[in-house]
Amino acid sequence: MRWSMPGKMVPNIDKTVVLLHPREKGCDGIRKLIWVTAISGVLLVACCHKDSPDQAEPEVVVEHDEPIAVEFNQLAFNDDFQEAEPKIIDRFPIEDKKVVLTFDDWASDETVNEVLSILREHGIRCTFFLIGEGVERNPGLARTILEDGHEIANHSYSHPELPGLSLREIQEQVIRTDEVLTEAIGEAPANYVRPPRGKLDHETAQKVTAAGVDYIIQVGVSSDDWNPALTDQEVCERVMDGVQPGSIITMHILDNAHTVRVLPGILDWLIGQGYEFSTVGEMISETGL
Ligand SMILES: [Zn+2]
Repeated sequence: MRWSMPGKMVPNIDKTVVLLHPREKGCDGIRKLIWVTAISGVLLVACCHKDSPDQAEPEVVVEHDEPIAVEFNQLAFNDDFQEAEPKIIDRFPIEDKKVVLTFDDWASDETVNEVLSILREHGIRCTFFLIGEGVERNPGLARTILEDGHEIANHSYSHPELPGLSLREIQEQVIRTDEVLTEAIGEAPANYVRPPRGKLDHETAQKVTAAGVDYIIQVGVSSDDWNPALTDQEVCERVMDGVQPGSIITMHILDNAHTVRVLPGILDWLIGQGYEFSTVGEMISETGL
């Protein structure tokens, strides 16, 4: 199979990614390895069906420049969800003093850069669960997060509570966000979803999983750093009181939240207690989940 199509040019990025739309159920067999080369503003794309009857080799359209291989998560609409077995993690089974610090949502450049700066000063790498429509407006900021060594994952497209949505709407939230994140960062994001506000029931988890999501990462220890009804001290105490080995600690990138004020103190306290920090992906590998 071979075609070419005009691609979306991603500003301020030397890689250009073209996404296939829509990812329907029938695309399950597609090896979403797409070779892309941008030449004079025109993108040429080739894609192979590994399960195609003739097992034809992909015809890769390349002119002079080396192509960029973009490995996609294989998310696709799938209404056959009843047999799906979600892997939901809200704490890692580990006895060492290790925790995962996670940040949810989306914010201005100023807020995100302040958070990144604090993390850099402390030498800590985290997992960020980003909202698709926010990243779509400012993809360069998502790349900045990645380039600082953090892991990027999926927090839905528009942040609705997933259990109230139809199967199609739930899967669209995660698939669309996966596409936006891939386009923004030039590579597949980590294939985990955090449901907005932590709202989840078993059937919703199955519907998310049926779309091809590997893990659902729950909130774990919630700092409530978004909550204007709390004081900075109360936010700190929620983390200090809740943390234990293997905890997933959740904070936010949101403008006008407690986060930037409380984060240095929380990190210093955790480090003082002997805690070390991993990303979700590192902890999944370490615990064999
Ligand atoms: Zn959120």
